[in-house]
Amino acid sequence: MSTSLAELGEAELLRRLATFAPPGQLDDDTACLAPDPRSLIVNTDVLVDGVHFSDNTTSADDAGWRAVAANLSDLAASGVTSVDGITVGLVAPGHTSWNWVEGVYSGISSALNQFGGVLLGGDCSAGANRLLAITALGRLGPLRLLRSDAKPGDVVVTSGAHGLSRLGLALLQREVDPATAGLNQVLQERAIQQHRRPVPRFDALHSLLQCKPSGLPWRAGGTDSSDGLIAAVQGLCRASGCGAVLQQSAIPRPNGWPQGEQWDRWCLSGGEDFELVLALPPAWARAWQSSMPGSYCLGRMTAEPDRIIWNDGSTLTLNSGYDHFQTMT
Ligand SMILES: [Mg+2]
Repeated sequence: MSTSLAELGEAELLRRLATFAPPGQLDDDTACLAPDPRSLIVNTDVLVDGVHFSDNTTSADDAGWRAVAANLSDLAASGVTSVDGITVGLVAPGHTSWNWVEGVYSGISSALNQFGGVLLGGDCSAGANRLLAITALGRLGPLRLLRSDAKPGDVVVTSGAHGLSRLGLALLQREVDPATAGLNQVLQERAIQQHRRPVPRFDALHSLLQCKPSGLPWRAGGTDSSDGLIAAVQGLCRASGCGAVLQQSAIPRPNGWPQGEQWDRWCLSGGEDFELVLALPPAWARAWQSSMPGSYCLGRMTAEPDRIIWNDGSTLTLNSGYDHFQTMT
């Protein structure tokens, strides 16, 4: 039986957590960021046991990785090109094992090692439920991506296929039988990997910055698809006062994805895909698509506020995405 946090005590817990930060970083109650002429972008995400992760589908390492990846995806989708680091607020019952906490922080460290940034600080407390609150800080590149900066006539593009994370969760929960659904092995492995170890698309942001046609200003609409692809498009429409027409033939299904209403719903609204969803001037969209082989062109922004339709004129009737409060009622 591994040591519980109650047996460890707060001082020893903090001493152990400090080993995941640079030496001396957690000695004081504040962290200091060096002066930098670039704007500082800040984002907070809260992950709750039973809502965002569960011992049935998520190892401690994966919970830590996913928490960081979700935060950094928001930074990437804002135009952040370098990550300063994160602070972590941890709440857990006293009976929680140190092994679980160690796993979470080692997943956090792996993600920071891969995408940049360090553990800058944080706090922990006993509480009824396990919870991770992460604040990420990063520096803005030349383009501030805002949902409100989409314009009518922009092309709606995304950095990758959608639905994999939802399928990964379904496979881990045995909600779907791979043989009956006709899922090939590669798709199954890709889906589980995408669910457990999502990747914030800094690579797609960098290629976007590199391929801007020289005559265009630094203006694009953008967000990520953490709450689902359609929710991302809705977010662009709502904030910018635009609508969108989407191509039914361009639904970004992963290779080997089955046909059918449920599968399209998972693709369009499954959530936790963490791809960039952008509204770009046509010339920039063309340039980005040729530098990003896995990207998809979904349709166009229109001047009709909040009206999202398919190219045959029908309205999208799909559930608009993952709603944390709806699932709790
Ligand atoms: Mg997001």
